[in-house]
Amino acid sequence: MDSNYKLTLKIKRYNPDTKESWVQDYVLEVGRILRFTDLFRKINNELDASLAWNSSCEHAQCGTCAVKVNGKPLLACELLVENAVNQFHTTIFHIEPITIAPVVRDLIVDLEKAYERVNEAKPYIIEPAKNPSQGNDYQIFPRNLERYVDATRCINCFCCATVCISSHKGFLGPNAVMASIVRLMDPRETARKERLDTLYSEKGIYRCHTSKACSFVCPKEIDVAHFIALAKEGRFKSKDSR
Ligand code: SF4
Ligand code: SF4
Repeated sequence: MDSNYKLTLKIKRYNPDTKESWVQDYVLEVGRILRFTDLFRKINNELDASLAWNSSCEHAQCGTCAVKVNGKPLLACELLVENAVNQFHTTIFHIEPITIAPVVRDLIVDLEKAYERVNEAKPYIIEPAKNPSQGNDYQIFPRNLERYVDATRCINCFCCATVCISSHKGFLGPNAVMASIVRLMDPRETARKERLDTLYSEKGIYRCHTSKACSFVCPKEIDVAHFIALAKEGRFKSKDSR
């Protein structure tokens, strides 16, 4: 098998100074186990230092490098060349910024407003329960943890929010709703009424159309739509649901 691929990256560019937007082609000869962030770096080093993109941890733990590749939002640091060719059946890749937020430059978006929605959902324990045991740590038993640990893997990459088909502008969005559901499942949270009020408000879960697009693209394989569906059934209304 050929260890190198000849790829064409068609990258959506944006210059905030001139407000000009265009698609630029970059042709690369690359190894199969390079990640897309490596390709962006290669472009910067060898072809075009002006291409702007974002990354931070490059271990799929921070969500900073989320982009759309051939229409699908994903983490550029996770996508290997070989997997991309197999997944999309092509060596031509259209790369765009995620569409949940305004573009700053090229592939970089300003997530401040998007994070406001997550912050509205209060992604932390609002009122911690009194520690039932001696010492300072609240103990969560494995059988309780298993119920919600999947949901805690969210890294706020906003891939799910990018594909969400809810047409309601006020919808908090799948990841913000998940942030609230996770804390409703957490035995340490006592501010349940406040959480439920948000979840069932006009910005909450009833704005979801159950398309499952969010679950399909989540790089952490969280079945977001499933958790939202459980919330619609009222599963998290009772403390016993935890
Ligand atoms: S299932 Fe709901 S939250 Fe997920 S993408 Fe569809 S409308 Fe959005
Ligand atoms: S639920 Fe998944 S897709 Fe959505 S922000 Fe969290 S990690 Fe990203």
